[in-house]
Amino acid sequence: MPTEKIYDTQPHKYDFTANVLSCEQKEGGFEVTLDKTAFFHEGGGQECDTGKIGDARVSYVYEKDGTVYHVCDKAASGEALCSVDAAPRFSRMQNHSAEHIVSGIIHSLFGYDNVGFHLGDDRVTLDINGKLGKDDIERVELLANEAVWKNLPVRVKYISPDETEKTEYRYKKEIEGRIRVVTIEGVDSCACCAPHVERTGEIGMIKLVDPMNYKGGTRVFMLAGDKAFADYSERYRQTREISVMLSAKQGEICDAVRRLAAELEKEKAALSEKKKEIASYIVKEAVQTSGEKIIFVSDLDGGSIRRVVNACVERDGALCALFSLSARGGYDYMISGGGIDLRALAQDINKSFDARGGGNAQAISGHINDTEDAIRSYFAQRTDKRDN
Ligand SMILES: [Zn+2]
Repeated sequence: MPTEKIYDTQPHKYDFTANVLSCEQKEGGFEVTLDKTAFFHEGGGQECDTGKIGDARVSYVYEKDGTVYHVCDKAASGEALCSVDAAPRFSRMQNHSAEHIVSGIIHSLFGYDNVGFHLGDDRVTLDINGKLGKDDIERVELLANEAVWKNLPVRVKYISPDETEKTEYRYKKEIEGRIRVVTIEGVDSCACCAPHVERTGEIGMIKLVDPMNYKGGTRVFMLAGDKAFADYSERYRQTREISVMLSAKQGEICDAVRRLAAELEKEKAALSEKKKEIASYIVKEAVQTSGEKIIFVSDLDGGSIRRVVNACVERDGALCALFSLSARGGYDYMISGGGIDLRALAQDINKSFDARGGGNAQAISGHINDTEDAIRSYFAQRTDKRDN
């Protein structure tokens, strides 16, 4: 027997009394049917409602042949006080009704259809089977919000299969039995099984964000109702924090960041020059002495490290190991010279320091996450070993 759906006429009735018609223990829990229900079963891109039937917790709801099954953690019987978790359900109604408005406007302006609707936790995904530019999306967004401001009624009507031909609505498919059509006056009519707000004013606001090309059409994300409010609040919090950090008015943070980025570029260029100077100073110092060199410096870039090591090795061919303190901690290194196959040394360093490094017989490089003392003592021991 088909279950009477309370949300067809009273979408905001979350608490209701119903008679338990059957309760069957199955693998996933107790499956309860009622003479009428306010619980929405999942479908049409929307999750099912949760809530309570008497003392039993309803975790899943589905429909089969017109009957709604409530999957509960306990058995239920007789006349039961039931309640649907109102906040998530209202949020879904806000966002689903908003989706109908947006899809309806896109359909009437461009003739495109929404071919993929997903109502996620933080936003709604819409896949439109046609290309929409930035201006198109802004136009749709404005018209959608105007439909909200007009506080239009949303009506649910069942039509019989022989009425489908003479009725205009989106999402026409061959469906057996009567068809539920949700109409937003002057904006959209669409076949849909889900509960919707009573009037569009309840949606509050509709925002379309992050459009992208997708499978030859357009994917766009939508925030409406409580999700739009949560998003605005979070963006406001971040904007305010950034404006304080930049000492700039909230409306001028982009200009402030651009100025900062330009200054940073200048500073980076100056720093790079300084590093080159330091590198040539280190080279001058290092080539004064002959023999094996273990040099520690702070924060030299890869190019400068190579210049120093190559200059030292060129002087007398002795081994030169340069360790540059890295911003991520530990030391970047390059080792060359000494007339030995350095690949074995790289392997030994990797083993001794749990490090990453390698190269060829003439030059090795890598990263060691340890202290200068530990690295110096490793090389001191190596010298001892070689002397023996
Ligand atoms: Zn729908």
